Amino acid sequence: MDSPKKIALLGSTGSIGTQALEVISAHPDKFQVEVLTAHSNHTLLLEQARKYKPNAVVLVNDAHYKNLSDELWNMGIKTYSGEEALAQVVEMDDIDLVVTALVGFAGLKPTMSAIAAGKNIALANKETLVVAGDLVTKAASAKGVNIYPVDSEHSAIFQCLAGEFHNKIEKIYLTASGGPFRGFSSEQLGKVTREQALKHPNWEMGAKITIDSASMMNKGLEVIEAKWLFGLKAEQIDVIVHPQSIIHSIVQFEDGSMKAQMGLPDMKLPIQYAMAYPDRIHSAFPRFNFMDYPNLTFEQPDPKTFRNLQLAFDSLHKGGNAPCILNAANEVAVALFLQDKIGFLGMSDLIEKCLTDVQFIEKPSLEDYFTTDQATRELAQELASK
Ligand code: NAD
Ligand code: MG
Repeated sequence: MDSPKKIALLGSTGSIGTQALEVISAHPDKFQVEVLTAHSNHTLLLEQARKYKPNAVVLVNDAHYKNLSDELWNMGIKTYSGEEALAQVVEMDDIDLVVTALVGFAGLKPTMSAIAAGKNIALANKETLVVAGDLVTKAASAKGVNIYPVDSEHSAIFQCLAGEFHNKIEKIYLTASGGPFRGFSSEQLGKVTREQALKHPNWEMGAKITIDSASMMNKGLEVIEAKWLFGLKAEQIDVIVHPQSIIHSIVQFEDGSMKAQMGLPDMKLPIQYAMAYPDRIHSAFPRFNFMDYPNLTFEQPDPKTFRNLQLAFDSLHKGGNAPCILNAANEVAVALFLQDKIGFLGMSDLIEKCLTDVQFIEKPSLEDYFTTDQATRELAQELASK
């Protein structure tokens, strides 16, 4: 029997991170935790480190680092703090697979260094591909590194492509639940509260992606993510609203045949598929029952009302650093919305203004992405404080 895959789990305290640990716990013969990292939830990180006994942990925010390191030191677990440590720890020799379950632009640096060290990636952190998909995918192919999607829609496409990698894709359909405000008018969206936006009908997720799902930005980011993962043109990617979230996405081939992947909405399945690829391994997740869902329905998305979806398509067409601007402006907008500092529609206003005002770069370097991210954050904060 093969020895267990050694996993570095970035963002182990989050929604994807904790579910990845559940998958690992169910298959101790297949997976072993080598590294755990978190931003600031030191109590949960400590608990996880005691349970999974990794080789190393990183707590990015140093506020509670001392308590953590004192305790883990006695157990022989290496501890580090800071962003640099996060980018370095993924290079450790023993790591077989890096699961990027951290949120936002912060994923770019450690993902790039994991690729440079030749580590395969199970990618949940879609923002990294949105921001710098060209550089990330080029670096991965130069190093022979595989990027396995964790996002449920992209996992669905990837599963439909098994055995079909040589066949031409005509187009793909990414399904979207439509979120809590499906069918709302702009007027209604203008009045929604943070609490309403945080209640997703089908998925339990971290706060940022939950707001992105309510605003349809999540689907916009996923369109850009799909372009880079599967080497597609913007015209080959369509979005279809499917409120039940049972069909996770669809590939249409040259002969017109369509393959869909379906199942109950449970992120543990795509997480497990990405970690165990190319194998399918047993799971005890609840099974789908047709009679619980006698009607699977489909609707057109409404990018006029959900402007973030249109803005994402626009930035994809524009290319260069436009998706990086979109992402940074959105990260600031979501944070401000969560602090009740701007309204729901104010998020799209802010993103649109940043897309017109931040300097466009047609062929950005990695350094340019960091500068663009910073400049956009500063502008977005300034615009919001006016
Ligand atoms: P979350 O907020 O629940 O967890 C985020 C994790 O990242 C935490 O462990 C946190 O400590 C860490 N983190 C946050 N900021 C950081 C920083 N600046 N530096 C280092 N670490 C940091 O988020 P989540 O819902 O688990 O989402 C994680 C990623 O997976 C996101 O990119 C999201 O879009 C993607 N994703 C999530 C889901 C889901 O169901 N939750 C589904 C598909 C894709
Ligand atoms: Mg998704």
